[in-house]
Amino acid sequence: MPEAYVDLRNVSLVYGEGDQQTLAIDRLDLQVAKGEFVAVVGPSGCGKSTLMKLVTGLLEPDAGSVFVDGKLVDGPVKHVGMAFQNSTLMPWRTTLDNVMLPFEIVAPHKHQLRAKKADYEDRARRMLKEVGLGDFAHKFPWELSGGMQQRANVCRALVHEPKLLMFDEPFGALDAFTREELWSMTQRLWMEHRFSAILVTHDLREAVFLADRVIVLSSRPGRVVLDRRIDIERPRSVAGMYDAVFGDIVQEIRSKIVEVRE
Ligand code: ADP
Repeated sequence: MPEAYVDLRNVSLVYGEGDQQTLAIDRLDLQVAKGEFVAVVGPSGCGKSTLMKLVTGLLEPDAGSVFVDGKLVDGPVKHVGMAFQNSTLMPWRTTLDNVMLPFEIVAPHKHQLRAKKADYEDRARRMLKEVGLGDFAHKFPWELSGGMQQRANVCRALVHEPKLLMFDEPFGALDAFTREELWSMTQRLWMEHRFSAILVTHDLREAVFLADRVIVLSSRPGRVVLDRRIDIERPRSVAGMYDAVFGDIVQEIRSKIVEVRE
């Protein structure tokens, strides 16, 4: 077993106090290896967002421990890249300046920004070029389509080369074609940069397309009920999603979710 980059050990999380308590996550064990892409799916309310908050240190477990890169998480983890459903680009900054943001706020870059500005800008431009936005660096987010904004959003999450990327339904708001395009882009970026990734999604095709392993959580309290390795060769193609092998895996995961839904 390769070294775990993210390691949740016997983690439980309770919301509320006294007789208002809700056990959201119950003794969850989950390991994500270095460079591994893991997708987490499950019925709504199973604790996917809670899991993201535990890994990034926004919530502290009531029992068990969370480790990232071998270190116990006991506060917000700053070096993680994040991409959310609604692109969170700042409307008053150009696309390039949005992508530069991690260099301004994440250590050690923020201390080196003056000295390394040209180098950082070069990296941001290369990243934009990689996703086909090379000519849009000086446009403002509101001048871009939804899909382009989300591409820039992923660039921003990746530009400082974090070793861990958290995707929370990043493509949920996009149309089906744009979404498929961004799956391919994400796969390409992952194959190139080999960060560890946790993707939370409702979209089972997205999970199977992108992930090395798909984890199914039960409805509350969330526990792992299926840990499915996806052995389909990479790079995976959108056309390949219509193959029987792909469809069978999606169906297997879907059945499991239906089974564990209340
Ligand atoms: P998911 O992202 O899978 O939809 P969440 O992680 O948001 O699920 O929530 C897990 C469970 O915890 C849900 O059943 C939800 O109702 C409950 N929950 C989430 N946040 C709170 C909160 N602040 N107070 C009480 N219960 C909460």
